[in-house]
Amino acid sequence: MYSNMSNEPSMAEKLCLSCGMCCNGVIFADVQLQRGDAPGGLKANGLPLRLRGGKTVFPQPCAAFQDCQCKIYALRPKHCRDFECALLKSVLAGKTEFTAARKVVRTAHQRAEKVRQLLRDLGDTEETLALSKRFQRVKKQMDSSGFEEERADTFADLSMAVHELNVLLSEGFYPGA
Ligand code: SF4
Ligand code: SF4
Repeated sequence: MYSNMSNEPSMAEKLCLSCGMCCNGVIFADVQLQRGDAPGGLKANGLPLRLRGGKTVFPQPCAAFQDCQCKIYALRPKHCRDFECALLKSVLAGKTEFTAARKVVRTAHQRAEKVRQLLRDLGDTEETLALSKRFQRVKKQMDSSGFEEERADTFADLSMAVHELNVLLSEGFYPGA
């Protein structure tokens, strides 16, 4: 998430403050700490750090993400300081107009919300888990419990919604896109 920390928000900052998808569990399922990060300070500020494969990570949606802002901005780890999605880079480089970028963000929010709604329809209401993990969990349940017709239709809609979201993320947000 980007911020120039000046009093007057830049276009890029406004874009991030209207987006938040690199913090809310849509783009990432977790964030890995890197050399120079201060685990003690992050933990003291409410980030539930855990070990995964010998690396320290915290899950997304991030506990410090509130009202589409990072509440521990000055302390945020290196990954967060360094990350700029393809859309933000394009705005910063003057290749994409702010209004066009806002439109892409709005579409991504709509697609993510459609995925959330279909997950809820299938009984998954754990909003504190990243969307990709929720989808994998529901898929596993569907694979093991058999496909009752109505749920199968909803799951097909969910799979399509996840695909449409992933296409947009791949084309518009992932670095190098
Ligand atoms: S996904 Fe991109 S535009 Fe959205 S908050 Fe993160 S860096 Fe900003
Ligand atoms: S620490 Fe801040 S910038 Fe990093 S994921 Fe959490 S809310 Fe986003």
